Amino acid sequence: MRALTVEPGRPNSIRLEEVAPPSKSDGSVLVRALALGICGTDHEIVAGDYGWPPAGARRLILGHESLGQVEDAPEGCGFARGDLVVGIVRRPDPVPCPACQVGEWDMCRNGLYTERGIKQRDGYGSEQFRVEPDFLIKLDPSLGPLGVLLEPASVVAKAWQQVERIGDRSAAWSPRVALVTGAGPVGLLAALIARQRGLELHVLDRNEDGPKPALARELGATYHTGDLGSLKPDIVVECTGAATVVLDAMGRTAPGGIVCLAGVSSGGHAIRLDIGALNRDMVLENDVVFGSVNANRRHYQDAADALAKADKTWLARLITRRVPLERWREAFERRDDDVKVVVDFAA
Ligand code: BGC
Repeated sequence: MRALTVEPGRPNSIRLEEVAPPSKSDGSVLVRALALGICGTDHEIVAGDYGWPPAGARRLILGHESLGQVEDAPEGCGFARGDLVVGIVRRPDPVPCPACQVGEWDMCRNGLYTERGIKQRDGYGSEQFRVEPDFLIKLDPSLGPLGVLLEPASVVAKAWQQVERIGDRSAAWSPRVALVTGAGPVGLLAALIARQRGLELHVLDRNEDGPKPALARELGATYHTGDLGSLKPDIVVECTGAATVVLDAMGRTAPGGIVCLAGVSSGGHAIRLDIGALNRDMVLENDVVFGSVNANRRHYQDAADALAKADKTWLARLITRRVPLERWREAFERRDDDVKVVVDFAA
């Protein structure tokens, strides 16, 4: 079978190559790939800045945003031939730590977790892959090709669940205004969930034209490209990882504000910060700033519900390019009007 592979740590080592069929040790359910979403993490891995090969290997099969169809599954495992499925990214650490032990591998405490297509486990960027039934999600068939959005949606479903748990520290918590910074796929999916929660929504991004402003406005958001003026959100979901945006987000919430950092910064962008003033504001207003990464099974389920409730035409427009596997290189080009780019394994 063909697979997209990289040598982690070596820039631009990505290629489409013939590899051995998926190993039974990856799981008992055999899946035929339909689509693979490409995200910032994949770009970082391709650039040689992130990613780890499996033990004893030099190359890693790339890809963690999967969509596929079950080709073969053992009797009674909960899956059957033809099911539309998505594979979970992370696997618990082998120790396991207290979080992984209770199925919260997204909260892994010792860093020994592994991730398909990212950290020490081959990913889903191959014509076929295998998954353990416990790490597979069955989708409503009506979602069809939009199911490839489930993994990024799971990451924001987790972020929102954490925001709500933190909000519950006060019996009087009744948020009204949400700000999402970054109108990429993660930001727009976070915005979708904000609207599903009935919040007044503001979205900030650099793009003044192209699909992003339109997609945000169609959700009912006010779209901003520059100064946010006196906006004081109750909740910020920060999806850019850009230092100045992060800093602004932390300093502008309403009292009791919650800022979820969901974008990964590249580092090396030092900016001056009056930590004393920030501390003063945060303490005197009971503000919370926290980080959120990855997702466990519960969040994939929440994400599947959010996608099921969403307007399918809007969701479809998040996928701005579908590139057939033969032309895979184009999927790794960054274009101005890209939101989500997908490699089509079924074309
Ligand atoms: C993935 C997460 C993963 C994170 C860090 C993200 O792109 O969506 O599942 O935990 O990268 O590796």
